[in-house]
Amino acid sequence: MSSRPIAQARFPHVATANPTPAAQRDGLLADPGFGRVFTDHVATATWTAGEGWHDTAVRAAEPLTLHPAAAVLHYAQEIFEGLKAYRQPDGSVALFRPDLNAARFAHSARRLALPVLPAESFVEAVTALVRADEAWVPEPPASLYLRPFTVATEAFLGVRPAEEARFLVTASPAGPLFAGREAGVTLWISDTLSRAAPGGTGDAKCGGNYAAGLAAQALAKEHACDQVLFLDAREHRWLEESGTMNVLLVTADGELVTPPLGTILDGVTRRSVLELAAGHGLTAVERPISVEELRAGCADGSITEVFATGTAAVISPIVAFRSTAGDVVVGDGTPGERTLALHAELLDIQFGRVPDTRGWRL
Ligand code: PMP
Repeated sequence: MSSRPIAQARFPHVATANPTPAAQRDGLLADPGFGRVFTDHVATATWTAGEGWHDTAVRAAEPLTLHPAAAVLHYAQEIFEGLKAYRQPDGSVALFRPDLNAARFAHSARRLALPVLPAESFVEAVTALVRADEAWVPEPPASLYLRPFTVATEAFLGVRPAEEARFLVTASPAGPLFAGREAGVTLWISDTLSRAAPGGTGDAKCGGNYAAGLAAQALAKEHACDQVLFLDAREHRWLEESGTMNVLLVTADGELVTPPLGTILDGVTRRSVLELAAGHGLTAVERPISVEELRAGCADGSITEVFATGTAAVISPIVAFRSTAGDVVVGDGTPGERTLALHAELLDIQFGRVPDTRGWRL
């Protein structure tokens, strides 16, 4: 599935003929919510089995034209990414670890038998779009959410890897995902519906994973929870992750524990928080965590804090769990101090309020 790298640059900007008037744009930026407002442009590239990647550009964001037999509409041959551009104190704009998103995108492409976009082209596409739509990057605490994706566009109803695909990046100014939930979120422990199985697509970021998770998320809402916590598919016993977030817990003896990779998404925020742990006096540990351990640990105080991480969610304190076996309260039911400190440090790095000692900003 690999392809020839895109030749010399590469995403020329063809400006939209109908830019959003500045006053209207600024009105939208004042309260963008999450995932509803979109910028004027997209970055795009086309792939065909014969030619590799071509037709790269940043151009007007317009509805796509797809043949009704396009493979993505039938067999969900699709992958995506999520990362953000952050307004910096000097007015410039920075991306947070886009190289990790590029690598994960390539991993997802291989798993879904889609063409691999070279990492440098991924970063270049995202950067070119941010440059074109720079006026859409809001002021902190909001940011510009970037959504790169590849869809199989070939009109063919046979089941095999498509020979035509399209890569796009769309951008959406976004406020905090859980606005109004700073006091913490509650997760529904799903002991029936699973998200991923060994050998499946749990570690790829593909649309099908999310479609398959919606019923569990609806169940969570029915039980007055904000999100679902998925367990492993074999035993319904081991913690995996939430709908769009990784899950980590803090123990009384100073560990930051999180389930190992395999059937979960290799979250950029998860990885970053594990790397920041030592600076907070915590030892990062990746090991299986059972529901029994979670229940017992929250009851006897050996688990002091739980939080979830994701690009959109940043760090969300988890203050309680609900399940068919009863409710669990974490700590005193309010966000923990380690959670808040990690959250503050991460935002300071992303928004350029502290020196970039790790080279995480681009
Ligand atoms: N798990 C899932 C299933 C997700 O969709 C996301 C969001 N991309 C995450 C975890 C968190 O990953 P990241 O920190 O890279 O946003």
